[in-house]
Amino acid sequence: MKNKVDKSKKDPKDKTQRMPALFIGHGSPMNAVEDNEFSRHWQKLVKSLPKPKAILCISAHWQTWGTLVTAMEQPRTIHDFGGFPPELYRVQYPAVGSTWLAGEIRKSITASEISFDLDWGLDHGCWSVLRRMFPAADLPVVQISLDYTRAAKEHFAIGRDLAHLRDKDILILGSGNMVHNIGLVEVQGNGFRDYNQPFGFPWAIEASNLFKKLIDAEQHEKLVDYHSLGDAVRLAIPSAEHFLPLLYVLAVREKGEKVTYFNNKFLAGAMTMTSLRVG
Ligand code: ZN
Repeated sequence: MKNKVDKSKKDPKDKTQRMPALFIGHGSPMNAVEDNEFSRHWQKLVKSLPKPKAILCISAHWQTWGTLVTAMEQPRTIHDFGGFPPELYRVQYPAVGSTWLAGEIRKSITASEISFDLDWGLDHGCWSVLRRMFPAADLPVVQISLDYTRAAKEHFAIGRDLAHLRDKDILILGSGNMVHNIGLVEVQGNGFRDYNQPFGFPWAIEASNLFKKLIDAEQHEKLVDYHSLGDAVRLAIPSAEHFLPLLYVLAVREKGEKVTYFNNKFLAGAMTMTSLRVG
């Protein structure tokens, strides 16, 4: 018995078998249909992941009063954006839901009341990414909402409650953008915003570097308290919703667990596509 315990301590088997967790900078909904460096990386990423049993998505684009979890058998594809080409509105992502996972999530979360939702579905923060990662839509997908009455530390606590799902082969995927200030995106001479320009304003660079430094140092509590991180971060996070999914993903990180970055790019001065994998 003792031998077995000792062996298991040295053997990182459990950790290596734990499902990685992902934070994806989703950027434009067009990434769902465009073959570009970001969507290509999403496709490539899947090859290095174990096959999940189901996906739990925390998207910037579902904010509610109270915390909800989708519990319908067939979530609809929500086209929650305006002004894009018709082809994007035709995209369907017909993944099924999972009442089992919705139930597990409701049981797991002690940091908040959580209710089943039968109305939402999959918003573009979720399906624009999943369409590239899992084009067959053959894995069940569940979303949990961001309760906009909650403070960042409460979101982090909910994330902690979800961490054990990684051991049940659930892929936890937060979808937002670490730096996301649409109001400060560079406007061209012709008055249009070109979201594809690959550069960052100095404050965006400062904020992005600080985020990565704190993640590398495992100082998650400082990221939770992002309001105290100074002016650059205030500009990077004018509203919480695109940043909060990152906190959920950091909350499921084990102490000392490796983080790898990808799509580490600026867009139009005021956004980053920076994404990370935990585990
Ligand atoms: Zn978004």
